[in-house]
Amino acid sequence: MSAETPVKPKPKPKKIKPLAYVDPNGCTGCEACIAVCPVDCINTVQTTDYSGHMQLCEIDQKRCIGCKLCAFDCPWDTIFMFLPEQQESYIAGDLNNPKNF
Ligand code: SF4
Ligand code: SF4
Repeated sequence: MSAETPVKPKPKPKKIKPLAYVDPNGCTGCEACIAVCPVDCINTVQTTDYSGHMQLCEIDQKRCIGCKLCAFDCPWDTIFMFLPEQQESYIAGDLNNPKNF
């Protein structure tokens, strides 16, 4: 009787999830998104470069799990869920309808 070498199943390709992105032009710095983020990956940034508000929020996409809670809760609809290549297109002005969630 010969022992058969067990065949290892191939690992499934990792699914790339859309991650959250704050459009700084619409953010008022209200911090509603911070309150709902389950992994605490949204930070405030002090700036008046966009729309005259004193602060805005930025998302640490290395820690974002793509749960979309912040995008649903943003009262100013300025958080979008993007795949990395979509985000670059949006920032470059080539993507007009980023509401993909
Ligand atoms: S909830 Fe929206 S408007 Fe408020 S800080 Fe977050 S991204 Fe900005
Ligand atoms: S999608 Fe989820 S994990 Fe990512 S920033 Fe928004 S609330 Fe946080």
